Amino acid sequence: MARTVVAADLGGTHVRAALVEENGRITGRRDIRTPATAESHVILGEIAALLKAVASSAADAPVGACLASPGLISADEGKVIIAPNIAGFRNLVLTVPLASQLGIPVAIENDASAAALGEWRFGAGQGCRHLLHATIGTGIGGGLVIDGRLYRGAKGFAGEIGHTIIDPGGPRCACGSRGCLEAMVSGVAFAARARRLLAKSASPVLKEIVGYREPTSADLFLAAKAGDRACEAEIRHGGHLLGLGLGSLVNVLNPDAVTLSGGMLVMGEMFLAPMREAMFSIAYGPASGTSLRLSALGDDAGLLGAAAVAFERATE
Ligand SMILES: [Zn+2]
Repeated sequence: MARTVVAADLGGTHVRAALVEENGRITGRRDIRTPATAESHVILGEIAALLKAVASSAADAPVGACLASPGLISADEGKVIIAPNIAGFRNLVLTVPLASQLGIPVAIENDASAAALGEWRFGAGQGCRHLLHATIGTGIGGGLVIDGRLYRGAKGFAGEIGHTIIDPGGPRCACGSRGCLEAMVSGVAFAARARRLLAKSASPVLKEIVGYREPTSADLFLAAKAGDRACEAEIRHGGHLLGLGLGSLVNVLNPDAVTLSGGMLVMGEMFLAPMREAMFSIAYGPASGTSLRLSALGDDAGLLGAAAVAFERATE
């Protein structure tokens, strides 16, 4: 009988969970709306019920469970310190009470770190010893797999590549610094670029698309695809900066591969070509042989990341 784990992906709107086999096959999917309360016993009750329902669909008891969560996660303490998009997930210890209710070991991991291990085990990072993974979505996250194991750092916060400073005079980041990658290349950052273009009346095409609502990163891309040079320049500049950030990390880490996932990748070559060019132009010796690969795990990346962590924990 194949070993299974219970994987859960905590998001701002939904908590998704499923049973995952060692080969990455996913069964027994369930999801609930993310508990909107700050009452920890209510949150724990709803998540426990979800995980139990998934676990009960297994023929043999799962060997463990893992929750992948956005935000600052203390994996050692099994705690969400703060998850910016989920009110109520603050200094919340999840693993100990969930493990006692489920009767199996339960782990928690930062979602971007889990995604890195998920890519290494099930996705674009298969066959690598050392992997750098970057998620380019609403924010920018990252994770490192070194010698086939997730690298967590001293306190479990390793992989925060979104807060690599690219321009000290750049826009303010949510972390308090200026000019972080996340403040210049993420979904939030591209929306801010679109706002600045509108404020300068620099893009009639974007103005036509957006009207009087708030612009998004998707609007910026739509205008660029429609031939708007100013919008295209913003996307290319973002790709260039991301390449500088990733190239710097490649110089430090010398990974076998860099894998990428996240919503901003829909911008395709307009975004990726300048990124690739900048990355390989600054990454000198260490870049030789480093491959750049796009995730193919799609919407299941979160679940497979959590599953990869649960399997790693189960073999410790
Ligand atoms: Zn920052």
